Amino acid sequence: MSTNLGHLKARCAACERRDVPMNKEHIFPQWLIERTGTNATGIRWGAKRDVPALAATFPLCEQCNRDFGEYLEGPTARLFDEIEAGAGLSDNDAELLVRWLWKIKGLAWIADHPDGQYSSKYTLRERVLLPIDEIRGHLTLGVALIAEIRKEYGDLPMGVDAVTEHDAIFVSGVFSRIAVMTLVANFEHLVPVQFARYPLASGRHDLTAGKLFYPPISFRDDVEAVGVTYFSSLHLSRAHDEFAIAMLDSGSTDAG
Ligand SMILES: [Zn+2]
Repeated sequence: MSTNLGHLKARCAACERRDVPMNKEHIFPQWLIERTGTNATGIRWGAKRDVPALAATFPLCEQCNRDFGEYLEGPTARLFDEIEAGAGLSDNDAELLVRWLWKIKGLAWIADHPDGQYSSKYTLRERVLLPIDEIRGHLTLGVALIAEIRKEYGDLPMGVDAVTEHDAIFVSGVFSRIAVMTLVANFEHLVPVQFARYPLASGRHDLTAGKLFYPPISFRDDVEAVGVTYFSSLHLSRAHDEFAIAMLDSGSTDAG
């Protein structure tokens, strides 16, 4: 991740507006840093280790900062409580988790590619705050819970394992007691057996507003969860990047 982000300050990377009051957004949200105790211990980012969690910030405008907090981070923090308590997810909860993962990966991608275009179709703000478009029915959410947190590391997991460069759909990671990944349904066969897979409905509907997906506690401990998620993510990242490049080459649709 680039540490010199000064050149980005003139423009909000999320809504792409210029000359608006700016603020700082944590790439990993503060509630999750507190939940996992990772400020002292540092975080994982792909192959990188020990990045100080609270130091990973990114300039965003005040409005995006506020709206991400209200519409994405607040609801996701509450959803983490429910999932870890075994209360399961609704179809809309699954969508929230997908968009939340896209936000973390999107901010990190922009931080790494300050001159790149996140997507020709959406700003990051639109992509993570608006309902998912027609791709919704082609997405799978994989979730697995962790039985035990090993004491010797002094924190809970918090890291992104996806290492994609071109694709903007696949994101994976282990956060607190939840291992999670969002992927194109075509690549379900690459998902480790520990993850329960939920195919999102093609659109939001009252019939799928109740809790209907109950991920198993299938990892014995966090070390197992991080290892399995990390290695499977190498294959899944490559598959998604190849898919994204093929889609761009064919000109059929925007992979992001
Ligand atoms: Zn903004």
